[in-house]
Amino acid sequence: MNWEDIRRPSHTGENRCWPCTTVNLGLVGVAALWLYRRDRRVGAVALAALGAAAVAVRGYVVPYTPQFAPRLVAALPIPDELFGKDTGPSIPERESLTATELDGTTVLDELAAAGAIEAEGDLIRPTAAVDETWHGEMDRLADASLDALAREAAETIPARDSADSYDDGDSEWVVVDGVLVARPVVVAELAAYHALGDAVADQEVRLAGARAFRMFLDSCPDCGSALVESSAVSCCGGYTDPQTAPEEILVCPDCEQRLFTVPN
Ligand SMILES: [Zn+2]
Repeated sequence: MNWEDIRRPSHTGENRCWPCTTVNLGLVGVAALWLYRRDRRVGAVALAALGAAAVAVRGYVVPYTPQFAPRLVAALPIPDELFGKDTGPSIPERESLTATELDGTTVLDELAAAGAIEAEGDLIRPTAAVDETWHGEMDRLADASLDALAREAAETIPARDSADSYDDGDSEWVVVDGVLVARPVVVAELAAYHALGDAVADQEVRLAGARAFRMFLDSCPDCGSALVESSAVSCCGGYTDPQTAPEEILVCPDCEQRLFTVPN
């Protein structure tokens, strides 16, 4: 293992998540104190030094910290400002290939009219044929290289004349209109865009429909891991202001990417 394997730039530097860092340093401190109290002073000092160094170069040492630290910190009576909300990457991120915000009800009506979704009791779900095409397309795109995915996004979606790819060492992104869109999101939306086909004639509605299809995901379209619920508080690209409740989100624990934000 070399030094570059140990470092994780996606969790340090500008990308450092302060809730994760604080919680980890606290846990390292507690563990060191416990050893110290038990008269294992050499061990305590070594643990404290190693733990702090690991947090410095890796962002966090306790596995799955991004899944619990933001919630933990959100529950503490501490102002959000302490945790530096603007610690995201220097290139802005967006959760979707499309920046157009359309009314959710309109989009669902259009999808239903196109035969892409159907109601079952209180639930809505994709119709069987569309669902099968969507999952087939996601499997195909998951196997594509990042460059090929970016190229296909640019060729498929109208008015996306340039799409670039960006790999920060841990996560893969497609750069669309100068913003980063996470690879699993691109896979899901591009596949849904294909699956909706020409049944949805209006391009903006088709893109918004593809975006809405992410709510039907239960596993990561890129790596297959089951999605987990989390909260987007000042962590890993998340952002909230003190006036609004933290967003409930679905994340892939392996890609460490947000796949869906539950509407308030
Ligand atoms: Zn994943």
